[in-house]
Amino acid sequence: MVADLLIRGGEVLDGTGEPRRLADVAVKAGRVVAVAPHLNWAAKHEIDATGKVVAPGFIDCHTHDDTAVCDVFRMESKLRQGVTTVVVGNCGISAAPLTRLHIPAPLDILDRRGIAAHSFSAFSAQLEQQRPHVNVAFFVGLTTVRVEVMEDTSRPASADEIERMRALVETGLQAGALGVSVGTYYPPAQASTVDEVVAACAGMQGGRHVMSVHLRDEGDRVLEAMEEATQTAARLNVPLVISHHKLSGAKNHGRSKETLARLEEYARLQPVCMDCYPYAASSTMLNPSKVDSASKVQVAWSTPYPQYAGHDLDEVALQWQCTRQEAAERLMPGGAIYFSMDMADVRAILSHPLTMVASDGLPHDTCPHPRLWGSFPRVLGRMVREDGWFSLETAIHKMTGLPATRFGLQHRGVLNEGAWADVVVFDAQRIIDLASYASPRQAPCGIDYVVVNGEVKVAGNTVNANAHGQLLRNFKEWI
Ligand SMILES: [Zn+2]
Repeated sequence: MVADLLIRGGEVLDGTGEPRRLADVAVKAGRVVAVAPHLNWAAKHEIDATGKVVAPGFIDCHTHDDTAVCDVFRMESKLRQGVTTVVVGNCGISAAPLTRLHIPAPLDILDRRGIAAHSFSAFSAQLEQQRPHVNVAFFVGLTTVRVEVMEDTSRPASADEIERMRALVETGLQAGALGVSVGTYYPPAQASTVDEVVAACAGMQGGRHVMSVHLRDEGDRVLEAMEEATQTAARLNVPLVISHHKLSGAKNHGRSKETLARLEEYARLQPVCMDCYPYAASSTMLNPSKVDSASKVQVAWSTPYPQYAGHDLDEVALQWQCTRQEAAERLMPGGAIYFSMDMADVRAILSHPLTMVASDGLPHDTCPHPRLWGSFPRVLGRMVREDGWFSLETAIHKMTGLPATRFGLQHRGVLNEGAWADVVVFDAQRIIDLASYASPRQAPCGIDYVVVNGEVKVAGNTVNANAHGQLLRNFKEWI
C-alpha cells in the first residue's frame, strides 16, 4: 500500500490522554489511514520521527483570528506553535455581521480590511473560497450583533431590537457557527440582561450548539458572573465554555479554590468547561477604569500614539505628568497588557481536568501579548517538562481531544484511523516558547513538522504558503 505521507518511528500521543506508544502514522487523501508499529507501507513522502513526539495538531479553541486566517504571515504565529485548528469569534466579538462605519471597542481588535464582514454567509463563503491556512470554526459574537442592531448600547435592548438580534444570530447559526459567544464584560454588552441574551440566542439547539462566555466580572464579583453565565446556558440548554478563566486583582488572588469548587458543582448539573492561557497577565482593550487593578500595564497598541506600543503605561504617565488613568484615556483607542493575576491561580486552573489550553492571542496588535506566539510550547516546555504541573499526555489532551469533544469538532483532535491528518511532530526535550513581553513575535523552538489536512505546512523554520485549511461548519449532529 502507498501512503501520501508516512511519519515513522515516533512516540504517538493520540490526544485522548492515553499513554504514549511507539507507532508509525500513515496518511492518505488528507486522512490518517493507519497508526501501528512498523507499518509495511511505501510512501510518497516520509518523515523520520525517531525520538520525537507525534501528536494531533493543536486546537486553539479561544482566538481572535477571524480576519487573519487567510493571511499566512499572521497565521505563522499559530502554525509555528503546532496549531492546526482555531476557533474564532470569541468574547462576543466576531467579524460579521457588521455594516457600521464606526466600530466601537472592543470590536476594533479585529482588522476587518479585505474581509466580507457584512454577513455570516459572505464571511464563511469568502473563507471557503480563499481557504484558510488552518482549519477554522466560528462563533457568532453577540456583542457584534448587538452593536449592529442598536444605536445606543448603554441600555437593555427593546423587544424589537431583541427580535432583530435573534434573526441575525440565526443567520450565523445557519451559516455553520458552533454557537454564540457572549462578552458582557465589555462596554457595548454590559447593559444586556440574562433575559436579553436568552431571547437573542433562542435559535441555539441543545446537543448541537455551544455558548462561550467572557464573564461579566473576573475580579471581585467573579462568582456572581459565573452564576449568570451558567444560568444563561442552562436556560438555553446548551453546553457552556467559560473563556480564559482567571482571577484579576491582588485581593482576588487565591480565589481559584472557590471558583473551581463552584465550577465542579455546576459541572455535576450541566456541561461546563473552561479555557486558559499559561500567563499571569491578560490583554484586551485599553480601559481607563481597569488600569488601577493591575500591578503593571503595558501598551499593546494605540491609534493616536502608536509609538508607545510596548511601553509601560506608568512611564508614559510620568512623561506626560498625569495619572495612569489619564494616560490611558489619551492613548485610546488602544489595547493593553494587564499584569493582574497570580501564577498559583493560573497553575490551579490550567491543571484542572475541565480546562483546555488556548491562546486568546491578538494578531493585529502592534506589540502583542506573548501568548500569541508562545502559549502551546510554553505549556509543553515550562509547565510540563520543567515544572511538572501535569503529564505530557494530559497536556496534549487539553490541546486536542478535549477541545475537539467539547466543541464537537468531528475527526479532529485525535490520531486514529479515519481522523483528519492534522499532526504535529516535536521534540519533548527541546520544545519551549521564546516570545516574551519585551519581544513577543518570536517563534518557539523544538517543533519539527506541522501537517494540516495531510499536507506538510511547517518544516523546521519554514512555513509553506499554500493554504490547506478547511472551514469547519457545524452541520452535524453531535453530543
Ligand atoms: Zn475574552
